[in-house]
Amino acid sequence: MPIPKRLALANLPTRIDPLPRMSKVLNGPELWIKRDDQTGTEVSGNKVRKLEYAIQEALDLGCDTLITCGGIQSNHARATAAAAAQLGLGCSLVLNIAEQPPRQGNYLLDGLLDADIRFLTPEATPELMQAKRVATMEAICGELRAKGRKGYVIPLGASNGIGVFGYAQAMKEICRQEQELGFQFDAIVCAVGSGGTYAGLVLGKRLERHPGTVHGIPIADDAAYFTPVILGALREAAGIMGTSAAFGQEDLALLDGYAGRGYALSRPEELETIRLFAKTEGIILDPVYTGKAMHGLLTEIRKGTFTAGQRVLFIHTGGLFGVFHFLAGDTMLPGA
Ligand SMILES: *Cc1c(COP(=O)(O)O)cnc(C)c1O
Repeated sequence: MPIPKRLALANLPTRIDPLPRMSKVLNGPELWIKRDDQTGTEVSGNKVRKLEYAIQEALDLGCDTLITCGGIQSNHARATAAAAAQLGLGCSLVLNIAEQPPRQGNYLLDGLLDADIRFLTPEATPELMQAKRVATMEAICGELRAKGRKGYVIPLGASNGIGVFGYAQAMKEICRQEQELGFQFDAIVCAVGSGGTYAGLVLGKRLERHPGTVHGIPIADDAAYFTPVILGALREAAGIMGTSAAFGQEDLALLDGYAGRGYALSRPEELETIRLFAKTEGIILDPVYTGKAMHGLLTEIRKGTFTAGQRVLFIHTGGLFGVFHFLAGDTMLPGA
């Protein structure tokens, strides 16, 4: 079962480190972390693993411009803009905004990286918003064609079939690291935002025959929303590999109940988890994805879902630049 070719963009392998002080505080399983926040600087975070496959396909198709979309503080948009600049490609970003945004965090970097930025104003429903995004990206492709150039559209979060291979590859990397460590993790846990990271880990678990459970924690919406999204991405990935490998609900282990107030909105207890993690281990989580997912994981550990004697690996998927936007002036945090 061959997986497609990848372009080398990320600093790999990323470290897997124990979290001895957090584990002691929790008095439950041994907690470990995979530092996918350190896949790079400009192209940091989980998105670069997916972009390695998507951009390879763009180059194979002879495209000269990457087009993608996201929120104003999208880590994925910033990583795509950085990768495009590093490869000498053009980049257009379609970002949704409610009002004129401050030049901060990822959006500030998008500008420095010279991405062409188009704004989308909100629509009444997520479906209308998605339709407008797709139409805008297609229109940009048309503009490029008229100039004799060729665009490559990367969907939200690069969480389509080709992007899924990023975390199938990461699972292979984890298995190699486990051989060096001399044990296998009982559980591997990540945040779920557009679903591609989780889908990739599930594909990787199948390909590598990993015995552990792969848990995803939705940071917006819920398991009912994500189940068909993730199974759809897996189906598409299996199609690219030319296999009939089938995935069903029984292959997924989503931990529901941690989306809180919704996408990019925080609750005090989530910010408290970010503070606890920062002061205990010296590692910064972000409020949109990793802080919420870690809050979910710590809550599950306190509920007894993971127990003493088990080893749990949390994937730190990045998001540092968003901290400078979302937590600026937050009065919940000390020193504010
Ligand atoms: C996009 C993102 C996620 C979620 O990954 P998906 O593949 O979209 O589910 C998690 N963490 C960070 C920091 C992200 O930017």
